[in-house]
Amino acid sequence: MNVMQPGISEVENNLKTINMRIKQAAASCGRNPETVKLLAVSKIVSADRIKQAIHAGVTRLGESYIQEAREKIKILADHPVTWHFIGHLQTNKAKYAVRLFDLIHSVDSLNLAHELNKQAKKINKTQNILIQVNTGMEPTKSGVSIPDARNLIKEVSLLENLSIKGLMTMPPFFNDPEKVRPYFSALRELGDSIKKESIPNVVMDELSMGMTGDFEAAIKEGATIVRIGTAIFGKRD
Ligand SMILES: *Cc1c(COP(=O)(O)O)cnc(C)c1O
Repeated sequence: MNVMQPGISEVENNLKTINMRIKQAAASCGRNPETVKLLAVSKIVSADRIKQAIHAGVTRLGESYIQEAREKIKILADHPVTWHFIGHLQTNKAKYAVRLFDLIHSVDSLNLAHELNKQAKKINKTQNILIQVNTGMEPTKSGVSIPDARNLIKEVSLLENLSIKGLMTMPPFFNDPEKVRPYFSALRELGDSIKKESIPNVVMDELSMGMTGDFEAAIKEGATIVRIGTAIFGKRD
């Protein structure tokens, strides 16, 4: 699939391919490619390998585990990147999350939002968050259901140290990305309908959706952040 060019790292080579595919997917549906941000998902990936990605132009990194992220963010503190949290967040880790992350993608309960708000207040920060929606209603997945999302957003919008920037979803897995599209479009439609309500302290600018197997379909359905790990760093063990 990828023809390695001599003199560049595998990660850099992968990034070239991904950036090209993002551009093509955007162009195919008349979107400006600049409106699609690449989040390089670096969970389980070593700091050294992340450095290769940064040198190849990556500016946003996504992590799923607090302890692992803490160690790597410390090592990479001098690099001009922002860190996003995309994993399931336990309330007892909220304190670390607000210190480490520019955007938390996985807020799905009022309880968690309250704790993040409290911890953000302590360090005088307005924490940017996304609301995670369980578009497939899968019992094993985190996320608020589509019918409950609007109420959750209204309540979270009242918390002064949180700022809701949009929505995130992890749809059900299918081998065929076309089968995932209805879940992506459901997230977009939810975002559009919430936007129409003009809730104070809520902007619906971001749709975080699409991973290695289905990011092109997500872009066609309006993704503004695609979260890609495997296609950049290779298979995780
Ligand atoms: C691991 C992970 C990704 C990246 O998945 P890939 O298939 O490796 O691109 C994206 N989003 C979330 C929430 C993840 O946990």
